[in-house]
Amino acid sequence: MRREQTLVIIKPDGIQRTLIGEIIHRLERIGLKLVAMKMLVPDKKHVEKHYTLDPEWIEKVGQKTIDSYKSKGHKPIDTDPISAGKRILGILVHYMTFGPVVAMVWQGGHAVEIVRKLVGGTEPLTSDVGTIRGDFVLDSYMIADISGRGVRNLLHASSSVADAQKEIELWFDKKEIVNYRLVQEQILYDVNLDGILE
Ligand code: ADP
Ligand code: MG
Repeated sequence: MRREQTLVIIKPDGIQRTLIGEIIHRLERIGLKLVAMKMLVPDKKHVEKHYTLDPEWIEKVGQKTIDSYKSKGHKPIDTDPISAGKRILGILVHYMTFGPVVAMVWQGGHAVEIVRKLVGGTEPLTSDVGTIRGDFVLDSYMIADISGRGVRNLLHASSSVADAQKEIELWFDKKEIVNYRLVQEQILYDVNLDGILE
């Protein structure tokens, strides 16, 4: 479990907001280990593949948007989750290919869940304060929808261990992932904290 890995992508808006260092800092300081990192401009096919690795994602993302509109007492633009999801996928392909992104693999105990907690909910309007999305960006489904663009929420993080494995394989070759030990891992995970006293 302490070797769990997750994929994080700093999206084009995260790069333009000069938040690379801040995001890495937050993931690093909790105790996670960075095991792979690269900057690239993804192409449309790659982004489309990324978001459809989970065959249920299209319906889930559509449903999440519809639920969010309803919970705020607004009428959703789409009523069918699948057509909403397809619309969002098209928008996302556009958003994610605007410019460079930074793709990273982070490793550590419960990495998938811990990173999602630090990243915060999808819609920055309702992401908790203290999370990356809650602290650094103010977008909402409504503002994004008025312009027909993606919700600018700075970064992607895998949402399950199964998704993380597929996503990491899509973005990285095996040899790009570095297997190494961080000295602090003894303090985070080992039974004995021996070797501290001199
Ligand atoms: P998360 O990134 O939190 O895992 P999802 O996987 O549900 O969220 O959605 C992927 C991305 O699609 C979001 O991060 C956001 O940028 C974008 N997105 C989701 N819903 C909408 C929407 N209704 N309109 C525009 N963009 C959206
Ligand atoms: Mg997601």
